Amino acid sequence: MTDAQPAGTPAVGGDWGPHADTPAGRGLSAMIASDRLPHALLISGPNGVGKRDLAIRAAQALLCESGGREQGPCRSCRTCRRLHDPGQPALEPQHTDVEVVGPGSLCADANHDHRNTRTVGICVIRRIEHDANLAPFEADRRIIIIDPADALTADAADAFLKTLEEPPDGVHFILLTSQEAGLSETIRSRCRSISLAPLQIDSLETRLDEWTQTAGVDAPEQPERRAELLRLARGRPGWLQANLSAGDPVTLRAAQIDDAVRIANADRSERLNWSEQLAGRSATAQSVANVELILDAWTDWWRDLWLYLGKRSESLTHRSQMERIEQIAPMYDQQHITQFLEQIQRTRALIQQGVNARLALDVLLLAVPVARTSP
Ligand SMILES: [Zn+2]
Ligand SMILES: [Zn+2]
Repeated sequence: MTDAQPAGTPAVGGDWGPHADTPAGRGLSAMIASDRLPHALLISGPNGVGKRDLAIRAAQALLCESGGREQGPCRSCRTCRRLHDPGQPALEPQHTDVEVVGPGSLCADANHDHRNTRTVGICVIRRIEHDANLAPFEADRRIIIIDPADALTADAADAFLKTLEEPPDGVHFILLTSQEAGLSETIRSRCRSISLAPLQIDSLETRLDEWTQTAGVDAPEQPERRAELLRLARGRPGWLQANLSAGDPVTLRAAQIDDAVRIANADRSERLNWSEQLAGRSATAQSVANVELILDAWTDWWRDLWLYLGKRSESLTHRSQMERIEQIAPMYDQQHITQFLEQIQRTRALIQQGVNARLALDVLLLAVPVARTSP
């Protein structure tokens, strides 16, 4: 179906967060204010753009004790705080009528161990369907968030279709995905869709100022570093928040670029050793996350070399690395960089489809472009 349309003025009083003023955020708040939230909503958008945050805010607005439906979630009543504790970065609701389902979620079979799985299987969907048919415990409705919805196995998606077609009264399913193409058309067609676009850099900056002033988040103060941080975030408030809580992303990125440069000049065995250190021998959620971070860093870094060669330095992400870019970029052929950037995207897609992250990284490492001359 279609994207929600912007609807009049944004709600005042409550806090719809980074997307309060985007068409998607305004559309969602209008649906809730007029009690027209569909039983199946699909929120799509890039990783870190704020899908989970918006879904939690929707649940807060629906269950808020101080007029959240009309005004947006107050974020401070008891219920709002149970859905998101402002002291915790994690968006893990603690409420019997709101559940986030994803890889690792429980099913009804006590013998199943889903801890290391990366998919949501049919046994989990059956358990959710069973729960969805029970009356809510505390609130007047249930909200079930599936994150990411593209983790549903084919069997699970098939089983889920029936529920999406005839959802029990008082239940809202909110499906989240960064890869809409990974969802079957039958699932998509049964949901109302909202797509979240990256924020403009000035709205992201406003959020960053807010977090540093009110939430005590540490961010670089020097204007150049702050600007680089905002470029690294690419309009994704969730990325910014998650990465700031893990340290200084600008410093971390500089270290990742050191590695990228070193690996580009390393021999085969050094590359494979590095890959093993980074991704480990077995495929864990942590190794997948580590490899995805490296793919992000490498995409930005090699794109910078490509942009420099194309005389588009004004678009560089890592302006703090200008000297190094000037020195290194001329050693590469722009066409080879294009091919490598495409290969990084293919590697990312393979990992998202469940291919072992370490193996995918090993293959990618052997395709790093070769420099024409040594520095
Ligand atoms: Zn509230
Ligand atoms: Zn199970």
